Amino acid sequence: MSKMDHSSSSRMKELALDKYRNYINLDQPFIWKSNRLDLDELHKIAYQLLKYFMKEYSEANSHHAPDDDYLNDMPLSQKTSHLRQLLTIRHPAEYNKIPDNIQQLLDIFLQNQIDPNEIQSAASLPRVNQLFSNNNDPFFSKIALWRGDITRLACDAIVNAGNTGLLGCFQPTHLCIDNVIHAQAGPQMRADCFTIMNKLKLNTESVGSAKITRAYNLSSRYVIHTVGPEINDHHGNHSISSGRSPTKNEMAELASCYISCLELASLVGLKSIAFCSISTGIFSFPQDKAAEIAIHTVREWLNVNRTNTSIELVIFNVFKPNNEVFYIEQFERIAGTRVNILDNHRTLNRETKTDIDVAIEWLKSSNSLLIAAAAGLSASAGLDYTSEKLVKDLYPGLYKAGFRTLYSTFGGGMSDELQWGYLFSQVHNVRYNWPPSTVYQQLKQIALSFNDNRFFIITTNADGMFERNDFPVENRLYTMQGDYSMIQCLRPCSNNSVWPVRKYFEAAYPYVDKKTQLLTDKTKLPRCPQCGGKMFLNVRAGDWFLSTPYDQQAKQYNTWLTNSIQQANAANRLLVILEIGVGFNTPSVLRWPMESLAERHKNIRLIRINVDHSEIPTHLVTGQKGVSLSMDATKAIQLLWQGFFNK
Ligand SMILES: [Zn+2]
Ligand SMILES: [Zn+2]
Repeated sequence: MSKMDHSSSSRMKELALDKYRNYINLDQPFIWKSNRLDLDELHKIAYQLLKYFMKEYSEANSHHAPDDDYLNDMPLSQKTSHLRQLLTIRHPAEYNKIPDNIQQLLDIFLQNQIDPNEIQSAASLPRVNQLFSNNNDPFFSKIALWRGDITRLACDAIVNAGNTGLLGCFQPTHLCIDNVIHAQAGPQMRADCFTIMNKLKLNTESVGSAKITRAYNLSSRYVIHTVGPEINDHHGNHSISSGRSPTKNEMAELASCYISCLELASLVGLKSIAFCSISTGIFSFPQDKAAEIAIHTVREWLNVNRTNTSIELVIFNVFKPNNEVFYIEQFERIAGTRVNILDNHRTLNRETKTDIDVAIEWLKSSNSLLIAAAAGLSASAGLDYTSEKLVKDLYPGLYKAGFRTLYSTFGGGMSDELQWGYLFSQVHNVRYNWPPSTVYQQLKQIALSFNDNRFFIITTNADGMFERNDFPVENRLYTMQGDYSMIQCLRPCSNNSVWPVRKYFEAAYPYVDKKTQLLTDKTKLPRCPQCGGKMFLNVRAGDWFLSTPYDQQAKQYNTWLTNSIQQANAANRLLVILEIGVGFNTPSVLRWPMESLAERHKNIRLIRINVDHSEIPTHLVTGQKGVSLSMDATKAIQLLWQGFFNK
């Protein structure tokens, strides 16, 4: 170790602080506005900001800006996430300076993203020597280990692990720390980085060096930006794989990051600095090795500079429990003994916790369950609306007529005979005869294990699969998009022109040709008993849809939700939302409302299962209120079921 430290410190990077310090007003404190806003005010500001940045973006890219009503109707979580995405892709070289009035609104908005109660003061963090009995190591008395959201840490400087462009990440859906820190700081920080790069005439920042800016709307005063070594070229990919073994040079580069940051903090006269685990995210540096280098480099540096540095406290910040363990193990190695307790509030978990583990823990500590299901769940039970094979096998006549997926049938373009031959076949196959499947059965077992059956199902699926799998759905089901078991007047001639389909089905189905899907007897085409007009299954496939049969369900859902939230709060237990296969077809129907629920209520957690679109808003991830399981529903429910029942 000592040899490596020597080589890395000898190649310490030039910090060049004086060449940019005044251009970015580094020494002028950024004052918070400190207005606390209620949700309505936040909605209003988010709307104004979104409108401004959407317009700016649309003009720069000659797109049409979405209409105002659409923006206004979005839930706050969605407004916030759109706004963050627009700011993420906003390059300072391509846009004008943000006008003062908009910048002020944005500052207020960002400052309101942080609940003052969430802010962790660095001064009150327990030092590492308190983890051991009778430990007087002077190093440990200057060190703290903290697991949490670094944007909520009040200290002099936090360290951001950036990329060589130094302007932050430009990929809107990335959950890298670079994005999380820049998003909370606001665009002034990116503008400062841009100024620094310009003044120093740099195209790229070198690995192992560091620059400092003010922190703006973060909880700290400054941000020190450094670039760690990248083990795998994974930037741009969602998956974070553990890297190969780092080379000697890469280890020296990582050590150099820590040294540059400490030197810079010392140069500015700062007392406390918090390091994230540099390079261990998307840059894939192995976490155990990174923790070892971090701790030994800081220890060596503090030892050498103990009489000539302003730094009194170094915080190692981790986000996931499994990374925390690597730091603890290094401390234990230095102390020569195991830790006693982590602190008063939690015990050390040496197990690696995955998103599945977190989801299982939530399910186990909840007393109500909301199942929010869409097409992805049906698909995993074999009814895939996007499958060409399914149409070919099940409805050869439809296939011959040019329809390739079940989705495409909603567009119309069929003769009445084919239309009803197909719809009645669909009622027969799907609504009345689809076999029970493992995914629904396991989901049912989880639901039934809740006391007093405290579960509710809200679904856009009209296929009746929950009933076919014997869920006790009475008073616990809201099929918001309709149900294949009902038929309605297509006109419709009244709000009550909707009936059970059974009678029409039984009259017509014997006359459906199983090969061509044609209804061979025209007199069996269903006609509205009130007005004699055309009919359609009672599903939301047009603005003629009658929701009358589901009004009662909607009321039951709202009552259940209100009661369950109250119960969860009273018992300090969770209400878990298991959202399954809800994509982006109509996000305002299920996807956004589920996000809003998790966002607004402290005891609600969102488990989002989706094979293609499992991403959840950043603040739900950082607030540990949501996990995303990007896998097919069958696999995800299987894993949850195993964990939940300890199988
Ligand atoms: Zn990124
Ligand atoms: Zn009618």
